[in-house]
Amino acid sequence: MTTRERSLLTKEWYVVPISVDCPGCGAQTRSGGIVVGPSSLTNTTAFDLDGDLLKAPWVSLDSFAFVERVAGRTENVERFIANRYHSMFAVQDGGLKSVCEHCGDGLPAPLIRVAAMNGFVRLGQKKLVANEGLTLFLSKVVLTEFHGGTLIADAGLRDGGFSLLLLCDAEDGRNRTGVVEIWHSVARNEYAIVVKGHEGDELLRLAFYEALEHIVDDIAAVGLVLTQLHLAQDGSPYCDLARDLFLEALERSGYEQDV
Ligand SMILES: [Zn+2]
Repeated sequence: MTTRERSLLTKEWYVVPISVDCPGCGAQTRSGGIVVGPSSLTNTTAFDLDGDLLKAPWVSLDSFAFVERVAGRTENVERFIANRYHSMFAVQDGGLKSVCEHCGDGLPAPLIRVAAMNGFVRLGQKKLVANEGLTLFLSKVVLTEFHGGTLIADAGLRDGGFSLLLLCDAEDGRNRTGVVEIWHSVARNEYAIVVKGHEGDELLRLAFYEALEHIVDDIAAVGLVLTQLHLAQDGSPYCDLARDLFLEALERSGYEQDV
């Protein structure tokens, strides 16, 4: 079990429905827990999502984990979890809480943990939980990792079959520079990004993108600003098309292009 706080960046997470007795009102209530998948990335350095993305490499979690506690930056959590599953979760006291559907009280983590981990394994084996797929950035989380052997088909970051299309020079809020690589798989009709530091060291990798717009949103959400765009291969129509689509996506999100 891991109890230290770390930062978490993931596009693989699951809402697990649970049913427990509420210690507040005594009634049986439905609520939920959050489980993140093995492709999730964590970072243990003291981390400021608005400025430190290029500071240190992220490491992949490599196992499923129950999200025990979420604090720090919560706007993501509010938008993607509390607002979408408002009978199950609420942001209270600066953190995400599983709540009772009757009295709204926060349910204690140990009660949720057992129900959610058991529920995830049971529902996962029947393929009854789905990856939410939205990008979550959590600056202070405590995770409890599952023991080995919990696998869901197709979970995890899939690589192979991807072509590098575009390279974007990027800066974080501390004037550190890096490169965002944009990859695409024709077979999967899916994009992935790899963020590298200025010495070419890989810092993080995210996949499962259906559209370039979502990549543009995520780059902005992690506090990176793109400064220049390059084709991975000059004269390639595939790269040319990707550049045009990417420029359109950038323009739609408010980027201005210097000619
Ligand atoms: Zn209650």
